[in-house]
Amino acid sequence: MSKYVDSVLKDVKAKNPNEPEFIQAVDEVLMTLDPVLKANPQYQQNAILERMVEPERVIMFRVPWVDDKGIVRVNRGYRIQMNSAIGPYKGGLRFDPTVNLGVLKFLAFEQVFKNSLTTLPMGGGKGGSDFNPKVSPHTPGKRCSDAEVMRFCQSFMTELFRHIGPDTDVPAGDMNVGGREIGYMFGQYKRLANEWTGVLTGKGLSFGGSLIRPEATGYGDIYFAENMLAKRGETLEGKECVISGSGNVASYAAEKLMQLGAKVLTLSDRSGAIYVKDGITPALLKEIMNLKNVKRGELSEIKSKAVKFFPKANSWQIADKIDAAFPCARQNELDGKDADYLLKHGCTLVGEGANMPSTPEAIEKFVAAKIMYSPGKASNAGGVATSGLEMSQNSERLSWTREEVDAKLKGIMKAIHDNAWEAAAKYGKKGNYVVGANIAGFTKVADAMVAQGIC
Ligand code: NDP
Repeated sequence: MSKYVDSVLKDVKAKNPNEPEFIQAVDEVLMTLDPVLKANPQYQQNAILERMVEPERVIMFRVPWVDDKGIVRVNRGYRIQMNSAIGPYKGGLRFDPTVNLGVLKFLAFEQVFKNSLTTLPMGGGKGGSDFNPKVSPHTPGKRCSDAEVMRFCQSFMTELFRHIGPDTDVPAGDMNVGGREIGYMFGQYKRLANEWTGVLTGKGLSFGGSLIRPEATGYGDIYFAENMLAKRGETLEGKECVISGSGNVASYAAEKLMQLGAKVLTLSDRSGAIYVKDGITPALLKEIMNLKNVKRGELSEIKSKAVKFFPKANSWQIADKIDAAFPCARQNELDGKDADYLLKHGCTLVGEGANMPSTPEAIEKFVAAKIMYSPGKASNAGGVATSGLEMSQNSERLSWTREEVDAKLKGIMKAIHDNAWEAAAKYGKKGNYVVGANIAGFTKVADAMVAQGIC
């Protein structure tokens, strides 16, 4: 590690001691940048690293709302506007009790490189709240009602609206923020700003949403995997795959894998993991999507002879033969022991759909084993890329067909793959997508920052 990187990392650790996820994300990127920093001394002269690790702006605010029993509840809201060198801030909103400043800074930092990789003009941001729509504040075992979620979203947007805009900052969904929440927040923004603009992405189709946006992150993850396999003359046909999560990203990754002839053996949620030896069928996946998105239930409720349920388990250490793994649930969900199990049971491809799902130890093992390993910032960029396409359609006041958007998504995933591949090869790390994605994402933002002067 160069002295420059070492000193920036030390400073980040000293300044953000209570933000382990942010430190982990910064460490993972900075550790791979030495060759590009050496070849481009202007980056150090312009303090690019020091500026990239400091958000341009952090907004933190009170979100008061009234529950169905008339009791006033107070949550904390955030928006991290990390870097706008190459476009308006863009990144999702997450509602989960695990949300805090450090988690959102890690996500915003990753988003800067991810958005740069998409080839579209989007800066990086992230936001959310510690609000938990899955747990009613007053009735044990129940979720928040739709009316409670709406009141929360309206209060959240009442503060956020003054900080965002179609040319300033365009949030989207993330964990626990789907079509319902985006709809409520969009309605409140429109009311407050008295304008109809594409200020949020992931909107419903009847009010400016894009076809394929719901599918885009999961589909994009699998398109990226197809590109990695193509380099080795392989396809997904017949591959035995394990997936974690059963939310937006996981379910559409599963759907695309099935369409391409692969077998999906597992899915998971907070209640545990399901395993289907002969592969989850399209009909069962439909049932699961209905259970998670409409009934808002958990996988433990599935009653089917073909399904084996493992309470509180993750997806990694169940199947005997695994060709490919797709972590699509949350950060740090796949550790060194899981990586050992996957490698021992034949896994040659790990395509991250979630953000930072593999721990540093697991990543080290995948890279050392020289398997096809794609970091989330590259392989899950299809979601934000399609959000970028939604922004273009909103600006044009046009809607593209499903086929058009899907074709653009495929093209973007190929471009991300090829850029990461070429950047890795250029700096002597052929086949290492961690190095390739970091360098390709970093260079575009760094060059824009140098060109724009010290700001
Ligand atoms: P969802 O909320 O739709 O799904 C999250 C899934 O992860 C659910 O199955 C959830 O289980 C599970 N999960 C969450 N926390 C835990 C936990 N502590 N233990 C076990 N399982 C858990 O989110 P998304 O699918 O949208 O996002 C998943 C990941 O992908 C996140 O890392 C997100 O940042 C990333 N991502 C999402 C994008 C998008 O377009 N949606 C874009 C790029 C990245 P349960 O249902 O029980 O809560």
